[in-house]
Amino acid sequence: MASPGAQEPAAERREALKRVLAEARSCKRCPELAATRKTVVFGAGNADADLMFVGEAPGASEDEQGLPFVGRAGKLLSQLLEEIGLERSQTFVCNVLKCRPPGNRDPQPIEIENCRSYLLSQVELIEPTVICSLGNFSTKLLRADPTGITRLHGQPEVIEIGSRAVRLYPIYHPAAALYTPRMLETLREDFSRLPELLAMGPPEQPDAVEAVPEPEPAPAAEPAAADADQLGLF
Ligand code: URA
Repeated sequence: MASPGAQEPAAERREALKRVLAEARSCKRCPELAATRKTVVFGAGNADADLMFVGEAPGASEDEQGLPFVGRAGKLLSQLLEEIGLERSQTFVCNVLKCRPPGNRDPQPIEIENCRSYLLSQVELIEPTVICSLGNFSTKLLRADPTGITRLHGQPEVIEIGSRAVRLYPIYHPAAALYTPRMLETLREDFSRLPELLAMGPPEQPDAVEAVPEPEPAPAAEPAAADADQLGLF
């Protein structure tokens, strides 16, 4: 039995994360997405990061490269991080959906539900202190509530995700700020409060009742050319 707040060593959690990645890479839970994707965009960054960003879904560039937030919104994300003295490599960046919705349409509720367990595993295994939800989809999913980002942005709250308590910090999606200067200003202001939030450290953890089960190793992950790159993502 895990003691309250007990943490698995980072190396073990990273290995477990790789097993979840292997499972996600051959996922066919959403037939349309599995048929149209080029890659599964699992996430990238530090597998032991204090700060995690959760966006919406991969776009065309992300689908091509197999990496999250590599297009224009991603460049803005990197720039905003730089402005507060952080690098992308210190964080973990992922999305609600790991596959690109065709034509960049909105994620459908069934797709969000199908993909939810991957995000929950990422939170369990990376053990972030602060999760920045970028925009409506991730904010609504993680809060399990339909309240929108316009009302919630910039207001941190402690929530439980699986067995962990984290500081959720909803902010506008960088893609929305690309074309709206006022929104960019708000996003920048919200970003500027991230360092003090991180400095607060982890919130008090709920009492652990039993050990967090490790995700089942994927029995037959499909080998693919991108394997080496993918496994080097974190
Ligand atoms: N928008 C997202 O929500 N995620 C990405 O990875 C890229 C753009």
